Amino acid sequence: MSNSGDQSQTEKVNLLGLPRHKMEQFFVDIGEKKFRAGQVMKWIHHYGVDDFEAMTNVSKTLRARLAEIAEIRGPEVLLDETSSDGTRKWVMRMAEGNSIEAVLIPDGERGTLCVSSQVGCSLDCSFCSTGKRGFNRNLSAAEIIGQVWAALRTFMPFDRANERPVTNVVMMGMGEPLLNFDNVVDAMDLMMDDWAYGISKRRVTVSTSGVIPALEKLGEVSDVSLAISLHAPNDELRNELVPLNRKYPIERLLSATKQYLSGLGDRRRATIEYTLIEGVNDQPEHARQLAELLVDVPCKINLIPFNPFPESDYRRPSGNAVKRFQDIMNQAGYITTVRTTRGDDIDAACGQLVGQFEDRTRRSERYIPVHQEVS
Ligand code: SAH
Ligand code: SF4
Repeated sequence: MSNSGDQSQTEKVNLLGLPRHKMEQFFVDIGEKKFRAGQVMKWIHHYGVDDFEAMTNVSKTLRARLAEIAEIRGPEVLLDETSSDGTRKWVMRMAEGNSIEAVLIPDGERGTLCVSSQVGCSLDCSFCSTGKRGFNRNLSAAEIIGQVWAALRTFMPFDRANERPVTNVVMMGMGEPLLNFDNVVDAMDLMMDDWAYGISKRRVTVSTSGVIPALEKLGEVSDVSLAISLHAPNDELRNELVPLNRKYPIERLLSATKQYLSGLGDRRRATIEYTLIEGVNDQPEHARQLAELLVDVPCKINLIPFNPFPESDYRRPSGNAVKRFQDIMNQAGYITTVRTTRGDDIDAACGQLVGQFEDRTRRSERYIPVHQEVS
């Protein structure tokens, strides 16, 4: 609440999280012309402005009115670190409390930002340290897009025509994006909107462990790229690793995936994410079974060697085991990449985002994913 001292005022609308149609509606509702939406969105998202006074093409009267009823409230950057390999990590305090981490992985012309959708996660995958810590809350659309906004602000001013610090966004941070559907869709709309970040739909990727009804709904409202966290080639094993599989088994997941891809109408492939765990799902027979399973799914494979954390007994497979798995998949005709570890020296390597809703002193237990291979 921004007006906690004044009971007579209602809470201000945070314009940061409004996609184009909601921003237009906002201006219509206050008796203004729709085109104001474009002006204000460009100030917010192109220029990182959070003060209405800076919006010089908006009349003084409207600026004053906006300041009364609305706000632009993004996360506060608490920490900004850059690894020797260029990986950059921000710890951000969210507008509504809690902190999360966002990571940018530069790779030549490409800069991939890994974004969170929830604080924690309710799905409890056995290899995931976010899951092990339980679910705290959904992030608002403003808090999700705010991660892009705040990351880009740290590069400002920059020449928008020639510089693009963030070319790709992956919803692979903390949380299951499809369990925070409306907010994630609004935020991804902003990522792709020319009045905001103008990132191509091929370069905005939602990653899901397989919430099927939400995946079906996504196909009706969005055309972002898709990553499926599969991690196992059969239901028996997947039930163990991804408990959600008991509700939505592999066959249904793959059929919903194919359905989604065919709705895109542009021959895009899904990324199949497969976390390799020693002695659990990393054997040659698993690779062969996986190759068979995916035979009619347009996809590429991203292998993620497991990143250990203290509460887990799982181990990361040897380099040879990873290579052997990759070779079998490649020989079966799949484009198969291995996610490499980056940002070790700033604690931004390997694993997954763990926010600050728990004990900040247990730094060694925090893991962040690196996502080099999703384009
Ligand atoms: N909930 C979504 C998105 C966030 S998890 C999903 O599951 O797809 C994003 C990725 O982090 C998952 O694909 C998973 O492979 C990876 N991940 C989680 N824990 C990991 C660990 N301990 N080691 C390696 N990768 C991990
Ligand atoms: Fe949640 Fe994804 Fe972690 Fe599973 S892997 S617990 S779905 S964040």
